[in-house]
Amino acid sequence: MNDTDVLIIGGGISGLSTAWWLAQAGVSVQLWGADNRIGGKIKSQQQDGYLTERSASLLMNFRPEVAQLVSEAGLDELKTQRSPQAESRRYLLNNGILQALPMHLSGMLTSPLWSLRGKLRLLLEPFIPAGGAEDETVSQFIRRRLGNEMLEKAIEPFVAGTLAADPDLASAGATLPRLTALESRFGSITAGVLTHKLLRRRTAYTTDTFSFRGGMNTLVKTLARTPGIQILSNRRVEEITPSKTGWSVTATTSGGERSLNATHVVVATQASVAANLVSEMDNELASMLNDIQYAPLAVLHMGLNRDDVGHALDGTGFLAPRQERQPFTGNLWMSSLFSDRAPEGKVLLTTYLGGTRQPEAANWHDSRLMDETLLALTPLLGLKGEPEMVRIDRHAQALPRYHGAHLARDRAITEQLQNLPGLHIEANYRGGVSVRDRIARGQQLAQRITSQLAVTAEKLPNLTVPPLSTKYR
Ligand SMILES: Cc1cc2nc3c(=O)[nH]c(=O)nc-3n(C[C@H](O)[C@H](O)[C@H](O)COP(=O)(O)OP(=O)(O)OC[C@H]3O[C@@H](n4cnc5c(N)ncnc54)[C@H](O)[C@@H]3O)c2cc1C
Repeated sequence: MNDTDVLIIGGGISGLSTAWWLAQAGVSVQLWGADNRIGGKIKSQQQDGYLTERSASLLMNFRPEVAQLVSEAGLDELKTQRSPQAESRRYLLNNGILQALPMHLSGMLTSPLWSLRGKLRLLLEPFIPAGGAEDETVSQFIRRRLGNEMLEKAIEPFVAGTLAADPDLASAGATLPRLTALESRFGSITAGVLTHKLLRRRTAYTTDTFSFRGGMNTLVKTLARTPGIQILSNRRVEEITPSKTGWSVTATTSGGERSLNATHVVVATQASVAANLVSEMDNELASMLNDIQYAPLAVLHMGLNRDDVGHALDGTGFLAPRQERQPFTGNLWMSSLFSDRAPEGKVLLTTYLGGTRQPEAANWHDSRLMDETLLALTPLLGLKGEPEMVRIDRHAQALPRYHGAHLARDRAITEQLQNLPGLHIEANYRGGVSVRDRIARGQQLAQRITSQLAVTAEKLPNLTVPPLSTKYR
């Protein structure tokens, strides 16, 4: 008999949320993580009264299953909503000036951000025939449907600023799945949006943007405390080998090597680690995983006196298109987003540098990061004083790039895994990088594992699988 039904390798949100869904279905699950703490990239930190986030700052949710996890994990009362003023406005840097980005299509047609020609091109969208190859890039897709201005003044800054990717290389289907799905389902983005708007009146779940009291740490810590999940930190998995009843996994710990047998193993680590773990069993799979590249990022948090910032900071922050040639891709006004991020009378500004656009900036020395950022931000935000709090977080592998034939590669990974039944690979290079997508994908994987365990249990009556809760069938 195996030691556990499921062993999850990696304690980021991908591994944790899969563990949570499995535990809800009554499956015995262990999670081994290499670090001495849980959460992977997610880490909220307190410094001088400011609350900063090393990676994800918020959840932008429109998926009912994510709302279900938040609620059933007891997190509803700990949610902190994005403030209404931040909700209603976000800015774009345009010719050196911060301009409010329209939140609706009608606003785009009156906004000074787009030329008359750009606006007319937008209006043509419903008449452009559907088409485009599967490996079409974001730039090709947006230029084809919405024109170049829309690409340069909305999509490029979004893709570079929030995904650290390059729209000229990123796969449209993998990076903007909702937009490409609108085209393939409804023939045009406009028709799709209008249809959704009509249906939304009756059924839909609207977008909810939130974090938690204490930051995103609260999410990962709460999930980690779920009864039924056994978490062991400081266990770096070095080897996975097939066994008679599933998989044998070996990790190094401070007390030497530890091994365990599991019916199912979920590898929820970075792609290169997953590649190493499977290379002995399947070199082709390892090579596909090694093809997934990451972009580096530096995250610069600055705390300032409110009086030292001239701008009203009446929004989420701003993104900087590549044409603006700034040292950063964007600047978030964290204390405007959430009221608990800075002490009274202070503000917290977070700047993102590096990504695919300018990877070398992620490695700039601290003083250069500060100097270049302050030089650029000072005229934009009317800064008058030096920050009283500075923190810099660096990620050598911040976000996976969904570049090239990402969808085809992902399908090939799924096919290849069929030769290794009971072994699963699920992390942010598959199906979306956001915390929302990670939680949703965790549920889908947990459902697959749970039903496979039920089938195995019927064949092998000794297995410890409890009857499935009808909810997860
Ligand atoms: C700067 C930044 C800002 C972001 N902002 C947002 C945001 O606002 N909203 C949002 O939704 N998303 C955001 N994201 C994305 C999101 O934070 C990440 O995609 C997500 O947290 C990644 O989770 P993961 O579990 O897939 O990977 P990770 O968090 O990287 O977890 C992988 C885990 O595997 C472990 N591991 C590695 N090797 C081994 C081994 N051999 N044995 C055992 N364990 C191992 C690691 O220690 C780690 O804990 C942001 C990301 C970054 C970098």
